[in-house]
Amino acid sequence: MFKKSLILFVSAAIIFIVASIAQESSKSIMSTEEKVPIQPTGKITKTKQEWEKILTAEQFRILREAGTESPNGKTYLEFKKQGGGTYYCAGCNTELFSSAHKFDSHCGWPSFYDGANNKNLILRDDNSHGMTRTEVLCATCEGHLGHLFKGEQYGNPINQRFCINGVALKFVPLKIEEKK
Ligand SMILES: [Zn+2]
Repeated sequence: MFKKSLILFVSAAIIFIVASIAQESSKSIMSTEEKVPIQPTGKITKTKQEWEKILTAEQFRILREAGTESPNGKTYLEFKKQGGGTYYCAGCNTELFSSAHKFDSHCGWPSFYDGANNKNLILRDDNSHGMTRTEVLCATCEGHLGHLFKGEQYGNPINQRFCINGVALKFVPLKIEEKK
């Protein structure tokens, strides 16, 4: 009897672990678009339920709840492999970053030294988790993107690092951008 319950318990645990790994691998991929997204013309506000409908659970956790994706995750590896292109907000399609400003900070998250169009970004003080940081948000939907750090001497032209969650972005490769 004891042995049978143990087998059942072990099987359930294995199923749980496999399911968690499958969920992890499917939810944290930055989407690559086939088309250049149409730019929103004004501020976008949605209810929690509306955001949940259009975002994956991981995108919701990051964009709407100021979460952070795991460093050196699948999204980051994908980001490192991507060539030229533009990065848009995964929540509202606003143009946010360009591969022209991408640099390898080895921090485990996508890094840019500037915004593609800085008026599309909101910067605000973030004193959460006992740290003083600058939070970076999308100016159109106020989705949380990551943080901005300055003066780290990475050797980029303006000495700053936008440390961004890849899951909060959509990527459009240059070859598709050129067709528009
Ligand atoms: Zn947005």
